[in-house]
Amino acid sequence: MPHDDNLTADRATFVTHLECAYTGERYEADRLHGLSRAGKPLLVRYDLAGVAKTMTPSALAARPADLWRYRELLPVRQTRNVVSLGENATPILPLRAIGRELGADALWVKDEGRLPTGSFKARGLVMAISMAKELGVTAIAMPTNGNAGSAAAAYARQAGIEAVIFCPADTPEINVREIAAQGARVYRVNGLIDDCGKLVAQGTKEHGWFDLSTLKEPYRIEGKKTMGLELAEQLGWRLPDAIFYPTGGGTGLIGMWKAFQELEAIGLIGSERPRMIAVQAAGCAPMVRAFEAGERHAVRWEGAETIASGIRVPQAVGDFMILDAVRESGGCAIAVPDEAIAAAVDEVGGKEGILLCPEGGATYAAYRRALAEGIVGADERVLLFNCATGLKYPMRDRSILL
Ligand SMILES: *Cc1c(COP(=O)(O)O)cnc(C)c1O
Repeated sequence: MPHDDNLTADRATFVTHLECAYTGERYEADRLHGLSRAGKPLLVRYDLAGVAKTMTPSALAARPADLWRYRELLPVRQTRNVVSLGENATPILPLRAIGRELGADALWVKDEGRLPTGSFKARGLVMAISMAKELGVTAIAMPTNGNAGSAAAAYARQAGIEAVIFCPADTPEINVREIAAQGARVYRVNGLIDDCGKLVAQGTKEHGWFDLSTLKEPYRIEGKKTMGLELAEQLGWRLPDAIFYPTGGGTGLIGMWKAFQELEAIGLIGSERPRMIAVQAAGCAPMVRAFEAGERHAVRWEGAETIASGIRVPQAVGDFMILDAVRESGGCAIAVPDEAIAAAVDEVGGKEGILLCPEGGATYAAYRRALAEGIVGADERVLLFNCATGLKYPMRDRSILL
């Protein structure tokens, strides 16, 4: 079935309003929004009774396998505003060899490296940019550790929107170059991603850019939410026992948590939930520290450093949403050192032929620890997230010279 079918289908419009994730205050749909008046993220709400009537398993079965198949639970009103580069469904791959060694027969990786621009940032940015187009934005700006900037650049080009991207000076070279290669203006900043965010905020006032920072506009969550919808459908509407998610700004974890609530409301799943395990690098673990201290908000992590650049986020505006979801699910937050991350990438590549990105490696390293400490059992159904193609990252030279 051609991918186009999902894009040209009549769009049902189920969005009712937006809501502050912190105070519950209501905001009108079809207007350009940033953060709420309380300075917190906004969540999109839908007429779920209406959605339930048309987004049935059998209706879904007849649609092409991309994220637009969940259109009733997506915010875009007008088909002509959908900017797409082919957001295919990503496979859930069993770790067979490792599973045999560990006695774990339901250990899986959802490989998000297959998406356009090579990372799951495509899910969030295709939605944010489509909505920016729908709401008349002509220029966007965002801070990035690399992959978000690449996806933003690509979709902004498709939409004919100007993109200005700020990244830390030590962002992987390939990311800096791919952003520019996809038509965006890219600046290297002497600082971390939150320092880049401050430059974006300044530019919104001085140049009228629309701020596309993580969770500072409402629609990236909606795109990332499709990971939860998709994995639920792929697993026959039976969620895993635990999900290990490499957590930076946390959009994906928050998005999946929202997806599960919506799926329950439309009757496709019950009240059971996976334990959500937020994985961070030991060199930048603000959520782990806050989780362990029993706090609902996380203080900035000073001196953040890790090879897993996608999760080098010292401070996240959605901290309370991440921590709430982790706690409500009965999950936890785990930090893993860079050596364990590198060893995990080597092990999964060497034993399974699946080349993880460092952030994906972090989830496997955290799984090993969780298994050793009894946080998960070998008999449990566990899903790890690999969020970008391993091909974007430096690899060790292990060739043999003849
Ligand atoms: C952005 C990113 C993450 C973190 O995702 P969030 O949902 O923002 O927490 C993890 N890994 C990679 C490769 C990324 O690009």
